[in-house]
Amino acid sequence: MISRLVLATHNAKKGGEMSQILGARFPILTIATLADFPGAPEPEETGSTYAQNARIKAESAAVFTEEWSLADDAGLEIDALDGAPGLHSKRFEGPATPFAEKMARILDALRGIEGSARAAQFRCCVALAAPPALGQATRVFEATCEGRIAERPSGSGGFGYDPIFFLPEKGCTMADLTADDKHLVSHRGKVLRLLGDALDTIGVARWAK
Ligand code: IMP
Repeated sequence: MISRLVLATHNAKKGGEMSQILGARFPILTIATLADFPGAPEPEETGSTYAQNARIKAESAAVFTEEWSLADDAGLEIDALDGAPGLHSKRFEGPATPFAEKMARILDALRGIEGSARAAQFRCCVALAAPPALGQATRVFEATCEGRIAERPSGSGGFGYDPIFFLPEKGCTMADLTADDKHLVSHRGKVLRLLGDALDTIGVARWAK
């Protein structure tokens, strides 16, 4: 029975989305973050896939906290750029470069490319690591959200590349959506629904004692 889960992320926006989505489905589950564990390491993301990076982060947190730990790794894949920035989405154009500038560089690179040729997807993997004492294998899940790169940024919701990620079926960008509407269609919302099904199978605290 899982009654507490540690979100292994130092990205407050991402952690906020994860706890909103999981909190709505599992209201009794206590959701902690690495901020609750001073000295928690921030491991290098040395994997060559999103799944490996999510696993590295979740297992590092589970070893340090001895609690059930969850980490995600995500990226924006643009077809016309051969899948870039992909796994390097966070470091694209330099880790300190503001997102407004990263997005401007992408829009420049896609100048002259139109319509469905601007196809892109967000991809997100989450890894759920058990406390080491339980000796359970880490579970990994993956989901995507399909869209295309907008002609210009729009909206102030979400974070990261959301203002340039256009959702044809919604007629707006990810950043134009409310948080709840983003979670219904986003890569993170989808993958956390898969994770939620796994949590249901393992058993999650549902009622106050
Ligand atoms: P990481 O998973 O922390 O390595 O993040 C990868 C990069 O993709 C970060 O720069 C994020 O800002 C970006 N990213 C991840 N998820 C989203 C999202 O839901 N919307 C917009 N950008 C995102």
